[in-house]
Amino acid sequence: MNNKFTPVSIDVGNSEQTFTIEWADGHKTVLPLFGLRKNCPCVTCRGGHDMMGRYEPQLFLVQPTRIYKIVSAEPVGNHAIRIKWDDGHNAGMYKWELIRHMDESVERIGGGKSEK
Ligand SMILES: [Zn+2]
Repeated sequence: MNNKFTPVSIDVGNSEQTFTIEWADGHKTVLPLFGLRKNCPCVTCRGGHDMMGRYEPQLFLVQPTRIYKIVSAEPVGNHAIRIKWDDGHNAGMYKWELIRHMDESVERIGGGKSEK
């Protein structure tokens, strides 16, 4: 298994509005819940099967227009995590690879919370 896509710890910070994953390769991913919810990878949220895998990294950087909270986050097999949100939505299965790619995209377009 690839360490890059293997989580060793997951932390839901509803009060901080962040979702934090530490990976087996030592990298730490911190994503705002708003962007994570808006980039829900399910078919409905993506708007069709041909849009699967697409997401908008900018949504992790915008000022949230509402608070989202995670009710539960459960691993699916060893390749993804299913997140249930406080708005009742729970269809999104976030693959570890997707989360890691989201993180890298956000850093590329100017994220990097530690710099601010
Ligand atoms: Zn969805």
